[in-house]
Amino acid sequence: MSASIAAAAPVYLDWNATTPVCAEAMAEMLDAMQHAWANPSSTHAPGQAARRVLADARLRVASFLGARPAELVFTSGATEANHLAVLGALASASGRGGIEGMHGLAAAHGAAGRVRRRLVLSAVEHPGLLALADRLAAEGTPVHRVPVDREGRLDLAAARASIDSDVALVSLMGANNETGVCMPLAEVAALAHAQGALLHVDATQLAGKAQLSFAASGADLMSVSAHKIGGPKGVGALLVRKGVAITPLIAGRQERHRRGGTENLPGIAGFAAACERTAATLERDMAAMAALRHRLEQGLAAALPAVRVLGAGANRLPNTSCLSFGTLAAELVLARLERAGIVASSGAACSAGGTQPSHVLLAMGLDEAEARSGVRFSLGRDTSAADIERTVAAATAALAPLLRADANATVAPSAANAAGQANAPSAATAAAAVAEAAAMPA
Ligand code: PMP
Repeated sequence: MSASIAAAAPVYLDWNATTPVCAEAMAEMLDAMQHAWANPSSTHAPGQAARRVLADARLRVASFLGARPAELVFTSGATEANHLAVLGALASASGRGGIEGMHGLAAAHGAAGRVRRRLVLSAVEHPGLLALADRLAAEGTPVHRVPVDREGRLDLAAARASIDSDVALVSLMGANNETGVCMPLAEVAALAHAQGALLHVDATQLAGKAQLSFAASGADLMSVSAHKIGGPKGVGALLVRKGVAITPLIAGRQERHRRGGTENLPGIAGFAAACERTAATLERDMAAMAALRHRLEQGLAAALPAVRVLGAGANRLPNTSCLSFGTLAAELVLARLERAGIVASSGAACSAGGTQPSHVLLAMGLDEAEARSGVRFSLGRDTSAADIERTVAAATAALAPLLRADANATVAPSAANAAGQANAPSAATAAAAVAEAAAMPA
């Protein structure tokens, strides 16, 4: 690798983690800080001016999401929105407020006010949501995780079997952050509503990468985040369909009593600007990203036959490619790519003790070594053809020798293979991965 490549700005292929803040969002945030700094709840003129900025932003974000302004609750991001959806809906269903009658089913079940306790969610939800579900399960809430198949698609038959009249809430992501695999929202909405349950959709990755309408989706609750679409971090929203009762997590008068606390007006203004910027070129950006993603996958597979596209058989977001480079661990691949000026990520969680396999890839039936091998490339609207050519060339140069060495080591059976772990990384590659990981910054 030449010094000039290392010195050039890296190719950023981690747009699912976060996006650069767009110029339009920055300008509106600055404007809000300079001219709408008053408290939107104040009754004096500066407060009312801030209130108008808030109302205008609410209208624009709601319009982007195909929702009514009154359905939108601004939050600190999708993690909070997910918590508000799950905890708020479960608390409401346990007797306070109640969801019976929501879909005209109260009479059918003869169960107005009946307590529903079960939570159903997919096995591949965002780690924050799964951690919340684990906590609820430990506290006694019956929680059921619906499996996915080898392509990452939801097992609809299992979903149907698990959604019964005791279910308060079904929570399903719109698209998976690691693989980009899209979930069957309309089908699951029908299953949930047939049993009188609510559907929450974590649309954090779907927004801005697909045409999205809350009204048309069938969802009762939907989470989104500004920083995935060119807005700032620390702001997002939960959409709450008219008539759906949720118990707030944070008491207070703001957001129609659904989320207390003085609103993050600069963040909300930036969110609105990012929504409009995203909508302006959405179709064109989606088509361009899909073409570049195709070029990336084809280019890498042609140069490196060990490359496998995970979730290739499923309907995927146009920008996301989760690849496995044979038996090479993701952290080794990522370290080599970063040295060559390409930044991507893995779904595997790093901890002091090493790398945990991705829960998404494990749920797709991959073994532990394979589930540590998934490298996620996620493209954005600024990704260029030159970025992709550079990525294919750099990955080929950096990884082909490693893959050849690994293939040779695997031909001569290693201790691991002798023990029956034919798919385990060779001892040589595993040692290299450990050495590389040790050299990586935390
Ligand atoms: N859900 C999904 C599917 C995500 O990808 C993310 C962000 N990684 C979140 C929730 C959390 O979003 P936020 O950073 O706004 O809390």
